[in-house]
Formats: sequence, C-alpha cells, structure tokens
Amino acid sequence: MLTDYHVHLRPDEDGTHASEYFTAANVDRYRSAAAEHGIGELGVSEHVYRFVQTLEVWDHPFWQASAQDDIDAYCEFVRGQEGLKLGIEADFVVGREHRMANLLEARDWDYVVGSVHFLRDVAVDMRGEWDIWRSADPDKVWARYFETLGEAARSGMFDILAHPDLVKVWGKGAPAPEGDLRRFYELALDGIAESDVAIEVSTAGLRKPVGEIYPAPEFLDMCIEIGRPVALSSDAHVPEQLGYEYERAVEWLAERGIAELAVFEGRERRLEPIG
Ligand SMILES: [Zn+2]
Ligand SMILES: [Zn+2]
Repeated sequence: MLTDYHVHLRPDEDGTHASEYFTAANVDRYRSAAAEHGIGELGVSEHVYRFVQTLEVWDHPFWQASAQDDIDAYCEFVRGQEGLKLGIEADFVVGREHRMANLLEARDWDYVVGSVHFLRDVAVDMRGEWDIWRSADPDKVWARYFETLGEAARSGMFDILAHPDLVKVWGKGAPAPEGDLRRFYELALDGIAESDVAIEVSTAGLRKPVGEIYPAPEFLDMCIEIGRPVALSSDAHVPEQLGYEYERAVEWLAERGIAELAVFEGRERRLEPIG
C-alpha cells in the first residue's frame, strides 16, 4: 500500500483560483496519476493560509495576500470526491497555536499535516521579501528551526510532521551549518518523542535545489529509533508530481528497514505494509 497524502490540488503561484482546481475533472487527473503509480491511498492537504478563516489565526502580510478561499467549501468539495481523503497542511506558528488548534478542531479531517515554514515572520523556504536567508546565521536558523519543529510535534495539533528538515531546501543556495547535523536534529527529538506524530518522508526535496529526500536519513533513523511511524508523500502541486520518484523512496525506505506506512481516516492512524 503506497500513500500520497501531502498533495495540493492547486499550484502555489499567484493568480490561480480555487474554482479552476477544486473540480471533479482535476481530481480525476490526480486519481489517474495515483493509479499509474500504484498509490492506493490518496488525500489532499491544501495550505491553510489559502483560506480566509486563517486570517483570524495570523495576519502575516503573505497570509493576507494568499487567503482567498473558504475552508468549509474546500472540505465539502473534497468530501464529495470518492476515494479522496481530506487533509490540510497547517503551519505551526509560535504564539498562534491555540487559534490554529481551534480552526483545525472545528472540522473533520482525515489527517492534519503540520509544517514549519515560518520562524517569526520570515520563512525558511521563500525567496523575496520574507526570505530568512537574506540575513541569517545558519547555525542559529537551523537551531531555531529544529526547536520549533519539536514544539510543533509536542503541540499534538498534527498527525504528520511535514518535510521534517525543510530548512535544507536551498542546498548550496543558502548558508548551511558545518559538520555533523545531528546536533540540530537532537533539538527536535524530545518533542517528537513526547508526541504521537508520524514522520513524513517526502520526495519533494528531490525536486528542490537540495535534491534530497526530506528528511535526511540520519534524522529519520533517530525518529524511527524512538518509535515514530512513517508517512509517505510527494507534496505534489500538479498531477504530474504525484508519486514523484516513489521507486527511489520505496528503495530508500527498504534500506532503512521500514516496511509499513501510516494510513489515516478520521484522524485515526493504522499501519499498512508497503508491499
Ligand atoms: Zn510545506
Ligand atoms: Zn505542501
């Protein structure tokens, strides 16, 4: 059983409208791609900041510019599509946890994917105005990123911890710490150990400048050792990215002795054998 849960029906670019992408025809394209790649469990997880209701959680200018859709219309649309699980990609924003938790708890997801994109008001994975790398000490950013990731896990708000070492996204295109990176992963580990969260293995990193699966194998091994299960996703933003490089991911998982994946329904988790 292969899964793809961290999936977006619409691209991130400006000027797109939900009405063009939240359609049965578009879902069909994703369903066909899933069938092609042998993905038995398909779900979508739109960015929470695309929805107007999120402005009650945080009024960051980027969120203000992005929030256009109605979250309940999205839920209703996805619930009307056969064989499609309902998820959401929700940001962990320090100081806004309770407001975000209220927004999430009011709706009946199959799963919630939790992401750390922002550290205070700058992001680790955005170019332009909100780029943390315009002026930052890599050791400080990595430390703060992994501390925040641990807090996200500990918050209990999320079923899946998305792209767990997203901070590496730019590869050589951003400053990075020297030496053994496990000293940073350690900072997230207590929070992850105290949580019941599944760790996302994401092939999206292979499409990004870093050219690696998220998370680094050393980090995943640490999470496995403390008993965390794995959730597999592509973070596709178009049907062509669904199940992206899964052959490679499945081989990579087998090398690490991982034989089961987390499967979700109504925020309940079970494990299914990969194959
Ligand atoms: Zn993300
Ligand atoms: Zn995503």
